[in-house]
Parts: sequence; C-alpha cells; structure tokens
Amino acid sequence: MNEVRTGFAWSLLLMLLGVIAAGLVFGWPHAAFTAVGFGAYFLYRQMQGADRLLNWVRQPFGTPPPVPTGNGVWDDVFAAMNRRHRENIAQRHELHLALDRFRLAAEALPDGVVILDESQQIEWMNRQAALCLCLDTTSDVGARISNLLREPEFENYLNDPERYGHALVLATQRVPGHSVHMQLTPFSAGRSLLLVRDTTQLARMTTMRRDFVANVSHELKTPLTVILGYLETIEDSPPGISTEELGQYVQMATTQARRMQHLVDELLTLSVLETDAPPNNDNVHIASLMASVHREALALSGGQHEIALDAETAAILHGDESELHSALLNLASNAVHYTPPGGLISMRWRVLDNGDGEFSVSDDGIGIALTDIHRLTERFFRVDKGRARLASDGTGGTGLGLSIVKQVVERHNGQLLIRSELGQGSTFSIIVPNPRVIAND
Ligand code: ADP
Repeated sequence: MNEVRTGFAWSLLLMLLGVIAAGLVFGWPHAAFTAVGFGAYFLYRQMQGADRLLNWVRQPFGTPPPVPTGNGVWDDVFAAMNRRHRENIAQRHELHLALDRFRLAAEALPDGVVILDESQQIEWMNRQAALCLCLDTTSDVGARISNLLREPEFENYLNDPERYGHALVLATQRVPGHSVHMQLTPFSAGRSLLLVRDTTQLARMTTMRRDFVANVSHELKTPLTVILGYLETIEDSPPGISTEELGQYVQMATTQARRMQHLVDELLTLSVLETDAPPNNDNVHIASLMASVHREALALSGGQHEIALDAETAAILHGDESELHSALLNLASNAVHYTPPGGLISMRWRVLDNGDGEFSVSDDGIGIALTDIHRLTERFFRVDKGRARLASDGTGGTGLGLSIVKQVVERHNGQLLIRSELGQGSTFSIIVPNPRVIAND
C-alpha cells in the first residue's frame, strides 16, 4: 500500500512540476490547460489499470494476473499479484505431491481401505479394497457402500456404531466363496475408514487344520479301541479261555499298535517334509536306489507278484536320497498292495527327450476310477475305505502315502503323474527336472 501511495505522490509531484514549468515557459493560462491535460491522462491510465483488474477477476479461477506494462502504480499492484500467484502454484504443487505420496502409501497397504463420507458413500478406495469387494475404483466412487454390498448383516453393522470396535466377517454374495474381514473406524466430520481383508485362505486353512485333527483322531481312535477291547478281554480272562486264544488276542492288539505306530511315523514324515528346510542335495545313484526299493518291494510281496526292474543306468540325481527312497517305496508298496497275487509290477527309470528324469511304477492291479484320481494325494484319502488294504503285517493303509510322495516331488521341483484305469492297473510317475539329472549313460 505504501508503494501505491508513493507512486501516487510521485505522479502528482511530476504533474505539478509540469504545470509550473508550462506556466513559467508559456504563461499561466497555458498552465491551466496543461493541468487539465495531465489530469485527464492520469485518470485514463487509472481506468485502464482498473479495467485490466476487472477483466482478470472475471476469468476462471487460476488464470494468471495481468502482467505489468509500465502503468505506474498498477505495475506495483500487478507485480504483487503475480508474485502471490506464483507462490500459490508452488504451494499447490507441494500439496499435490503430498497427496500423491499418501495415495501411493495407501495403495501399497496389504489391506483394503475404503473412505466413506457422512452418508456412507464411497469417497475413495485403494486397489486392494476393490479386489477384495469386487468393486471398481472409478465407477463405484460416489455410490453408497450398502447399495453395492447388499447384505443385511453388513447393513446392520453399518447402522450400529457400537459394533465398530469389532470386526465383521462377511461371506458376501458379491464375491462367492470368499470371506471378507471388515472393520469400520470413524475419523473426522462423519467420515469413516473401512478396513477390508480377504480371509478366505485363512478360513480354508482353519478348516483344513480342523479336518486334519479330526482325521488323525479318528484314525488313532479305531486301533486304540480295538487294542483296549483285547486288553480288557485278556485282563478279565473269561473262564475256559486257552493260552492259544490269549496269544491270538495279544497278537491282534500288537498289530493294531503297529498300525498306530505306522500312522504316527507317516505323520512325522509329513511334518518334516512340510518344514521350510530344503531337501539334501545328495548325489543319488539311481541304479542302486531303484535296486534297494526293488528288494524291499519283493520282500513285501512275499513272492506273490512278479516285480520287474528296468534301471540299469549310471545316472546320478541331485536330491535327497532318503526322501526319494521313501517316495519310491510308497509307490512300490502301493503297487504290491493294490495288485492281486500273480500280478505284474514294473519299476523303471528313464531320461526323457527334454532331459528330465522319470521314475515310474506300473502295475496291472485293481486300478483307480478317473473321478478319484485327482483326490489321491489328499491326506487320508482312500478310494475304498471299506476295502482298506491289508498289508502282510495287517497294519492296513493310512491314506498318507501319496501325500508324502507329493511333498517329496514338490520339494524336488518335480511332478507326480498318475495314469490309471479301473480294473486294468495304474502307473505312477515321478518326473524330476532336467537340472537335477546327470545322465552318465
Ligand atoms: P494308503 O496308505 O491307503 O495306500 P496312499 O496315500 O498311498 O494311502 O494311497 C491313497 C489311495 O490311493 C489308496 O487308499 C488306494 O485306494 C489308492 N491307490 C494308491 N496306489 C494305488 C495303486 N497302485 N492301485 C490302485 N489304487 C491305488
């Protein structure tokens, strides 16, 4: 303001000096004309400046102010306005950067975030929230959230602020088969933050764990009940029971105890295989590994099957010898158990055209229906529980063998292939990837 006043004072002083000079040179009547001329010019210039200012005010917000054009005091006004305009632009830029940083941080959150306004309309959401709730980050903004998630349970939750302290787990129709964990947190001026997390996987794991515990308990309960039955009979020793009969009871109780031991052993093997520790990287001599599994299969069969071995190779495999042995023995023992006496079993190793290695165990036994094949590696799955196999020691199958095989194969980055036809026989193949196979043939 001082600059404006000084500008005016200087203009008036200059005009006064001009009028005096005109009076002294041309006489005082001329001085009056000069004063009127100066006054008119001064007024015209002020009107010009005010006009430019008015024009600028009428422009849309953000239009740069008029540039100074040598119009006395108006130059100071326009220069000051331009300075302020530049400062505003810089501040807005800073604000944009801060907003972008906030948005990026919110996008990077592993959880979904939805900002709701006072009427529970979506103001903003991150991509994670859109994925979880099957929403669109652009077209669904502005919509009332309860119009999109049309679940009475969710509507009740939204309308009951007392529940905001607790989360809501919702199985929404919007994303069938998924369960979503949500919690609403009010923050400022009626706005609230809805935190969203897809808990489907967690729910699945919980169910799996529950099923697993139920299965293990059931599998252990059956032999335990049998053992207790025999022990009670032995304890009571009904009159007239012979030593031979007692011996039979002890033997049957022992068989069931072995069955339990076998189950616990397999569970322990599975839990070791499921740890994050990588498998050993032994140099496994395939020929001797196959020969050893072959010997054990012959012993299991007790001469009831013909078991062919085709693994004359100098190939070496990088892997965990004991895990591979256990996987192959599981396949071979299944072949023995699910092939009627007199059947033919063959065990084979070969290197495929692409350099991968393939172990295979084939039999011409009872085979498996196509509909059951995809479930074989599930824990405790047996095709026919009623016809559970009877091993030579009477321990029966646990339904864990192929789960173990699958774990071993995955730990070696390989693949388990199963081909089978009901009544015709089966072939189980373990494919080991090329980099693990050193074919010395
Ligand atoms: P189990 O201990 O019952 O043998 P596995 O996991 O090894 O458990 O096998 C799962 C089921 O797959 C078996 O119960 C059986 O029904 C079927 N199966 C496995 N191998 C064979 C095979 N070679 N021939 C026919 N059925 C088989």
